[in-house]
Amino acid sequence: MVYDKIPIVDTARRCGLVLDSRTLRRSEVEASCPFCGDHGRGKYHLSLNTATDLFRCNLCGAKGNSITLYARLKGISNKDAYRELKRGGNVYPMPQQPAPQNTERQPLPLEARHAAYTAMLEHLTLLDRHGENLLGRGLSEERIQKNQYRSMPETERGRRLLAGLLRSQGHELLGLPGFRTRYDDWTVSGPSGILIPVRNRHGLIQGLKIRLDEVTNPKRKYRWLSSRDMPGGTRSYSWVHVTGDTSKKRAYLTEGPLKGDAASFLANDALFVCIGGVNALGGLKDTLLDLGVTEVVETMDMDQMTNKQVRDAVLAMRREVQSIKGMKYSKYTWNPAYKGVDDYLLSRAAGM
Ligand SMILES: [Zn+2]
Repeated sequence: MVYDKIPIVDTARRCGLVLDSRTLRRSEVEASCPFCGDHGRGKYHLSLNTATDLFRCNLCGAKGNSITLYARLKGISNKDAYRELKRGGNVYPMPQQPAPQNTERQPLPLEARHAAYTAMLEHLTLLDRHGENLLGRGLSEERIQKNQYRSMPETERGRRLLAGLLRSQGHELLGLPGFRTRYDDWTVSGPSGILIPVRNRHGLIQGLKIRLDEVTNPKRKYRWLSSRDMPGGTRSYSWVHVTGDTSKKRAYLTEGPLKGDAASFLANDALFVCIGGVNALGGLKDTLLDLGVTEVVETMDMDQMTNKQVRDAVLAMRREVQSIKGMKYSKYTWNPAYKGVDDYLLSRAAGM
């Protein structure tokens, strides 16, 4: 479809964008960016090019033309946006300062996250000490490669470089959990540690979890890669991780993606479904239904049931799974000397 020329500044006015009056006579008119909030009042990082009728935010990288600008802000299709803009009319809303805190930014669609995170992992390496940690869990070198564990870049310079590489490859960072702006530059935010890809049943990376290098609270060894409440940042969700042979009809249910990866590897690629935590059940039921499994075997840590809050959460999880019609449910038990199912399987593999 070939579109006619639609003036970008007029479109920005129709969208109620705040324009910098000092730039109105220039070929590049500046406006407050509605996509990233532009760090607040009096900031104008969105350039409107009157020659090409394209816009671009120098802060968050949002870009496009009159039609995509209008469509994105009105939440309509490009086709409908084109129609409305061509129809014209005199509806010009009062310009409104974008308010980034009003609605929380949501993560990019899964395919975009997967593409950007995959490119990110390709640029990163795994430090020796992290590789040794993973080998110690019983994973093989080959499996460590295949699962694409990486080390979080440790220096700020490395992190900015990574963000720059991803942007130069055309990946959108606005909406990618973990990425944020700092002094008009993009970077990735989070503690040092092992990056663990959290995948759906088709192997697409939904998000990344970090196994922290420095653990101050033994109950918080893992964190999602997230840049919630940071400039240009995006929250993460507690996505459900699927690992192992997805053609299996029996799924083992556990907590934590790395535990599941290790246990699946040690149990001949048994299918593991890993929740982010006993209180993070969103998506669990859908994942099990999509996988088409007929049997779920619970393999939560053996010490889970000693704490009342955790016990209640585990019981809620059982009810959730058992509410699926026809689903067989059982609990896998092992020698309680081993805390997690991965520890137990590792001891068995080692002949202990
Ligand atoms: Zn912006």
